[in-house]
Amino acid sequence: MSLTQIQRRIVQLQRQLLELGPLHPGSISDQYNICGTPGCRCKDSKDPHKHGPYYQLSYTWRGKSSTRFLRPEQVEEMRQKVANYKRLRELMNEWVSLAVELERAERARAKQHDGD
Ligand SMILES: [Zn+2]
Repeated sequence: MSLTQIQRRIVQLQRQLLELGPLHPGSISDQYNICGTPGCRCKDSKDPHKHGPYYQLSYTWRGKSSTRFLRPEQVEEMRQKVANYKRLRELMNEWVSLAVELERAERARAKQHDGD
């Protein structure tokens, strides 16, 4: 990529970052449980129907791990937030890579000019 191409791409990334909606780190998992009620369908030996799904959000932030259950009506919104967070990380990583590349390209160009 040329210097101009790198700079253009960085501007694009900055715009995409501004457009990101609400976000949250972590991942959502679903769980199915067995209860303690004797004869419950969750323990049927032939065709068990476990209880659930129960949705759990797990994340680690600043060295602290957290897990909490989500109500079913919260799941879609949280999925979107988790996706936005992932997108944020991708955009940031690309920006940093381009920043490193830009620095190299600028130094290479400065060297060329010194040799003139
Ligand atoms: Zn049960």
